[in-house]
Amino acid sequence: MKTILVTGGTGYIGSHTVVSLLENNYKVVILDNLCNSKISTLARIEKISSKTPDFYQGDIRDATLLASIFKNHPISGVIHFAGLKAVGESQKEPLKYYENNVTGSITLLNEMFKANVKTFVFSSSATVYGEPGSTQYEEGMSTIPINVYGRTKFMIEEVLRDCAQANPDFSVACLRYFNPVGAHQSGLIGENPVGTPNNLMPYVGQIAMGKLPMLKVFGNDYPTPDGTGLRDYIHVDDLAKGHVLALSYLEKNSGALTVNLGTGKPYSVLEMIAAFEKVSGKNIPYEFVDRRSGDLAEYYANPSLAKKLLYWQAEHGIERMCEDTWRFYQQVELSHS
Ligand code: NAD
Ligand code: UDP
Repeated sequence: MKTILVTGGTGYIGSHTVVSLLENNYKVVILDNLCNSKISTLARIEKISSKTPDFYQGDIRDATLLASIFKNHPISGVIHFAGLKAVGESQKEPLKYYENNVTGSITLLNEMFKANVKTFVFSSSATVYGEPGSTQYEEGMSTIPINVYGRTKFMIEEVLRDCAQANPDFSVACLRYFNPVGAHQSGLIGENPVGTPNNLMPYVGQIAMGKLPMLKVFGNDYPTPDGTGLRDYIHVDDLAKGHVLALSYLEKNSGALTVNLGTGKPYSVLEMIAAFEKVSGKNIPYEFVDRRSGDLAEYYANPSLAKKLLYWQAEHGIERMCEDTWRFYQQVELSHS
């Protein structure tokens, strides 16, 4: 049975991937400093999978801790989720982002190489593309990220490609996620940000729960069919499966792989609201306001490379994304009452 180190494993995408790994008979060691997740997620992972991952509360920038983790566990690969992800905050506090995301990744890679571990899966993002001049993003397109967060992701990708160039037996996959949404079907794990959410679906979920009064739809004058922004929303369970398939690919292939993980089908803000209203039976009041600075009208993945190389494609549509989000929000409320 192979053992995988999952950094950021109690976070949103990490926790779903840990469940998927456990279901696929991997052993899992989690390292997370809990700066954006809760320890209670561990018990929920155990409840879903009836298996217990090892857990270390600590930071990816702590080389001593990393060395002891690699010494104490027979780790064969690393899936690296740990990172900060708020675009607005990254613009205000760039050094915090470069330190945490870029320096943290380099510290992790150094300790991993010292332990002779040569398989690495990295959480990258569609933000690395910036504005490549087309709305359907392909991996070979230009990458000029337009914010600090996106630049940290792109820098790490470049570091990884350089490491693959220098070490012929290093296998790395940079997975560029589009818009992750949804939750585990059990309703036990999902995305529950602290404070007012920045992203569309957590915001909609909180309106449905009566915690927020109204959605501000950022712009209804985009050159899209209904005037609102189009995005490629991808169910977090589909993303999780993509990581397990990437690991299997890397077990057989060395070098650096860069792939999009998206559905290839974009939906507008109004379509997402309508889908959520339908599955929840709740009214989601909204008003149109000005466009949000930095938002693009439309972008979505060309996911054909992931299908060809990883044998991966998204299975869940927006109805399921909304159903699972709604179940999770109701369950969070119950567990707090
Ligand atoms: P998340 O915040 O829920 O999970 C990240 C986890 O990493 C958290 O549990 C946090 O406590 C931990 N962490 C952060 N810095 C750490 C450090 N220095 N040491 C140890 N642990 C640390 O975020 P998520 O949505 O699950 O995203 C996971 C990864 O995917 C991130 O790297 C993010 O940039 C990337 N990503 C996310 C999205 C998205 O929309 N959610 C899209 C594209 C890429
Ligand atoms: N959006 C919105 N109101 C909100 C949050 C988001 O209208 O309160 C829109 C946003 O303009 C974009 C889409 O919803 O068109 C997805 O935004 P999100 O922040 O979830 O992800 P992004 O694509 O910006 O990473």
